Amino acid sequence: MRLLVTGGAGFIGSNYVRYVLSETHAEVLTLDALTYAGDRSNLDGIPEERHEFVEGDITDRTLVSELVADVDQIVNFAAESHVDRSIEGARPFVESNVAGTQTLLDAAVEHDIDRFVQISTDEVYGEIEEGVFTETDPLHPRNPYAATKAAADHLALSYHETHDLPVVVTRSSNNFGPRQHAEKLIPKLIQRASTGKSLPIYGDGSNVREWIYVEDNCRAVDLVRREGATGEVYNIGSGDERTTVEVARAVLEEVGASEDLIEFVDDRPGHDQRYALDSTKLRKLGWEPKWSFAEGLARTVERQLQPERER
Ligand code: NAD
Repeated sequence: MRLLVTGGAGFIGSNYVRYVLSETHAEVLTLDALTYAGDRSNLDGIPEERHEFVEGDITDRTLVSELVADVDQIVNFAAESHVDRSIEGARPFVESNVAGTQTLLDAAVEHDIDRFVQISTDEVYGEIEEGVFTETDPLHPRNPYAATKAAADHLALSYHETHDLPVVVTRSSNNFGPRQHAEKLIPKLIQRASTGKSLPIYGDGSNVREWIYVEDNCRAVDLVRREGATGEVYNIGSGDERTTVEVARAVLEEVGASEDLIEFVDDRPGHDQRYALDSTKLRKLGWEPKWSFAEGLARTVERQLQPERER
């Protein structure tokens, strides 16, 4: 079994590559464009016997077709992933997240791939005041990032209908853990708290997210890859909901810094108030989270603050 993992030099992708290599016998071919968000060193220390890295873009039809010809399955993590950047300029999001996914889907059809896992996000559903989203709820993306991810979900599922491509889609909640880019909430809070800088929190900090430790997400993605029903969507959420200000307080406590560092700043336009997922369908496959928020955060802080050579 040989897997093409796109975006494998990014945060979740690199954790997934490590997970698959340690928990299965699969070989992995990682394709990553090494954008500002990708870092080749996220894959440092991985033995080369079952892993190969190719620097390249998922929108490159020739390269993608050549690589897909040599694999059995595709797991597509590659994406522009930062909401704030999509508000400043949506074009790269359309290119990577929509056109890139379509390029991979075409190659998957051409080479008769036996599994295509499209990695999506809870953000495609939009916000929800109360209750939880199930996989059949309509999509109401409210920022350009989420809109491009929703488009990719529709494309992937349409290839299942029209080309009989064995697609599965995962929609996970907010991930945190080692190797996350410094622009994202938790790494940014850890970095600033540990150096005594203020922690900028959008609005009044009451926005709620469901936080999942990255390793729990990787285990869920791989379970869906192996056992998920073709043509289906699986939500991946821990059930652990926290407001942004609660997350900031937890980071300050873990780092040993004062709550006085919290600073409320102007809200992000179109900031979704709350996301929450019903993950019953995934749990029926036998998955449950192994990491509590506190355990995951302690590990994340420890990994981020230890000297690079010891990570
Ligand atoms: P990330 O930004 O850390 O990593 C993305 C990776 O994709 C980077 O290594 C980047 O170089 C690569 N990439 C971007 N465009 C590319 C292109 N055109 N061709 C090849 N490689 C390209 O993102 P992440 O947080 O690891 O997210 C991975 C996936 O999971 C994304 O699809 C994202 O939408 C989804 N997701 C993330 C979260 C989260 O909380 N981080 C939650 C739900 C879903």
